[in-house]
Amino acid sequence: MPVSDQNILLLGGTTEATELAQILNAQGFPVTTSLAGRTANPSPVDGNVRSGGYGGIEGLSDYITQQNIALIIDATHPFARQISANAQKAADQTRCPLIRLERTSWQQQSGDKWQLIQSEEEAARLLPAGARAFLGLGRQHIAPFQSRDDVHFIMRMIDPAEVALPRHHEIILAKPADYEAEFDLLRRYKITHLVCRNSGGSASYEKIRAARELAINVLMIERPTPVAHHIVEDSHAVLRFVDQLLGSPPRSTC
Ligand code: NAP
Repeated sequence: MPVSDQNILLLGGTTEATELAQILNAQGFPVTTSLAGRTANPSPVDGNVRSGGYGGIEGLSDYITQQNIALIIDATHPFARQISANAQKAADQTRCPLIRLERTSWQQQSGDKWQLIQSEEEAARLLPAGARAFLGLGRQHIAPFQSRDDVHFIMRMIDPAEVALPRHHEIILAKPADYEAEFDLLRRYKITHLVCRNSGGSASYEKIRAARELAINVLMIERPTPVAHHIVEDSHAVLRFVDQLLGSPPRSTC
């Protein structure tokens, strides 16, 4: 990272983080995006990128100190609670300001058939025998369904799974799609139950809309409670905070 008193560490892995990296880099801030390094082919990110864990709170605190980080932006996924908790504790230890960008959760609407639950394990218990379940969870979260021999699963993920899979399953290696494609997919596979996390945002909401239209039961996993002290809901609020805390960037492209 360049020698500067405006270094920003952007904890990423989300669309919002990629957009923030683009804006902050264009403004001239020395920003490093941090990725967990789990995805085989991550989407391109502007500016400096580092990949892989820090080795817990102490490792992250050391990194913040060594790299002279002036601000941490935690723009990780709403369900990535370990890194968020570690970041807040490391920020407290090093007295480094931290702002958490957490998109709002989806709200149940008229026509939705949601059952609010707490975990993938609970979803695996609740699926009725004979169900045809669509798992929109990602490959790290499908292990709890492994023993359900009496359910047919359609599993969508970006990279192939590395865990034991239930007896009856079909895998779709793809990202969430638009409304028409999601509607077609849920109908074609005769889905009776959709299992998903309340991630919020627009990218993966179309399957929820399609499930509403098709009157499909949704097992909606609620979010864990956020731990950050300073939480905002959109990128504009993050950029305002950057401006207040760090002032003008070293150079401007405007
Ligand atoms: P997690 O359970 O909160 O984190 C587990 C460990 O992975 C952390 O303790 C940390 O290791 C490392 N890690 C996680 N995010 C990191 C980051 N951005 N930079 C550096 N190290 C990171 O995280 P997760 O739920 O597995 O998510 C991993 C990444 O995928 C996050 O960046 C998140 O934004 C993204 N993502 C997650 C989801 C989801 O559903 N959870 C969905 C979309 C994208 P150390 O303790 O060694 O530092």
